Amino acid sequence: MDSPIDEIKKKLDLVEFISSYITLKKLGRNFKANCPFHNEKTPSFVVSPERQIWHCFGSCGEGGDIVKFLMKWENITFFEALKELAKKAGITLKNSNLEDSTWKKKERFFNMNRLAAEFFQYVLNKTKFGKKGEEYLKDRQIKPSIIEKFMLGYSPSSWDSLRLFLKKKNFSDQEMHENGLLVLTDSARYYDRFRGRLMFPLCDARDHILGFSGRSLEDNVKEAKYINTPETPIYHKRETLFGINLARESIKKEKNVFLVEGEFDMITPYQNGFSNFVAIKGSAVTSEQLMLLKRYTEKLTLALDADEAGNEAVKRGIDEAERLEFEINVIKFDFAKDPDEAVRKDLVAFKKAISKPIHIYDFLIDLALKKHPADDPFNKKKVGDEVLPYIAKINNSIVKSHYLKKISALLDVTEYSLETLIKKINRSKNIQSFYKPTANNKKNEKREDILEKYVLSSIFQSENAYKINEIIFSIIDPSDLSIPSHKKIVSIFIEKKELFKNGFNINLFVTFLSPELRAIFDEIYLFASSDLIVSNENLEKLAFELKRFSLKRQMNQILNEENDEKEKNKKLLLITEELKEVEKKLISL
Ligand SMILES: [Zn+2]
Repeated sequence: MDSPIDEIKKKLDLVEFISSYITLKKLGRNFKANCPFHNEKTPSFVVSPERQIWHCFGSCGEGGDIVKFLMKWENITFFEALKELAKKAGITLKNSNLEDSTWKKKERFFNMNRLAAEFFQYVLNKTKFGKKGEEYLKDRQIKPSIIEKFMLGYSPSSWDSLRLFLKKKNFSDQEMHENGLLVLTDSARYYDRFRGRLMFPLCDARDHILGFSGRSLEDNVKEAKYINTPETPIYHKRETLFGINLARESIKKEKNVFLVEGEFDMITPYQNGFSNFVAIKGSAVTSEQLMLLKRYTEKLTLALDADEAGNEAVKRGIDEAERLEFEINVIKFDFAKDPDEAVRKDLVAFKKAISKPIHIYDFLIDLALKKHPADDPFNKKKVGDEVLPYIAKINNSIVKSHYLKKISALLDVTEYSLETLIKKINRSKNIQSFYKPTANNKKNEKREDILEKYVLSSIFQSENAYKINEIIFSIIDPSDLSIPSHKKIVSIFIEKKELFKNGFNINLFVTFLSPELRAIFDEIYLFASSDLIVSNENLEKLAFELKRFSLKRQMNQILNEENDEKEKNKKLLLITEELKEVEKKLISL
């Protein structure tokens, strides 16, 4: 009897499945793409149709099967992913022993938040304590149906009403605290975090309530206007976008998303039929938010507040968005301070403004020109200083050249002078990144380890693994490899190689490996796809290089051995001779 995972894998093809999320390109026996789980420009995400596995050789280093892919993509637990895949494959999951404790805890926290939201809704709609919230929403012209849809509520000005409510539903103080609903004092007393506030549930794209944002309606200057759920096992500020659960489908359909700052900048347009708006909740767009949006659209339109801080936020968002290759536009309302006010003030003007977005670089140029009117040479320099660093980062050369032309015309200077400046900017940037410690731990991997993986990968990926193996292992011996698991895999291959004389059957080969070795083999197998495929001559050279590493290791070992000197020298002499031969080969190849 197959396990549910095996059944799912029989029904759903990994390449087809991943292709429904990102674009895969065929490369040799495998498929490649830019990794969807970290920022990158050169693809290091590899998928194997034969093995039904994927692996990222970039900085995130993630990898696994179809279940793991969905877990990462949707940011869900193993059990959630399994449930969804089973549904897709038309399989019924019978055994409840698959449930895992992480998911159970998450599900319990989601439920706790849903009950809390219902409690806040009740207070707002059905009690006198919610009067203030009701009046505020009426003032903002928010319709009852929208209040219902967003599950807006009100937290009473009490220290323990939510706590007592949830206690009756069998939640402990510790759980409520861990889920961010209670605050713990130094004297070990718990009290409600949200008191006397208009409550906005914060949802993920799948409608789970992750946490809350509470807006104070008091004119009390002592308190923060907004307080949010702190980081919890389910709420992560950097990954949250207010309204994504309601806007997701529309963003996909419109192929565009409007990014706004606050909750009402999302709610008010939504009420008026503009449903592809989400709020970043603050003034900075995070890379996590952009990665999330990248799943639905390639186009971003920033509709942030029309003030200095909003302009700064636009600039900060560019780097990240350009790296993820978004097309970025900006909306400016000259008649209102933010989208919420714009809709309420003049719906026609609002519609007109959002139908005419300005391209981000035009926006930056306008902004700089307003600040420094280009009528004297020093102001021209200031405009250049402000704008060119952004132009320098544009990936597409046609777009870049368009803006260089535009700036040269506006400032009345030659394009050549601008290009010189751009070169200078890029040079200093390269120097900076050269000295910056790299976050990419793969790059710190020793060359000999990389070589080993690469050579082994090339054997197993080639059409004729048997032949390539003969070539490589006439130069080196399995014992020349430095990583024990690599030695084992190779010796198993050599032991079984006659089976593969007429072609390499990878799925047969893995049956000879233990589960631990299988995981290592899968990573090795995909490794060569992460780089250019090398030809046989190159492989020979790499094998000799591995031999050199091995001989040097042996020399070190002998030098550290406590042996009699004569014996030592004899051994060293032999290795030195061998090393000379290897060096000769390396030069001749
Ligand atoms: Zn990655």
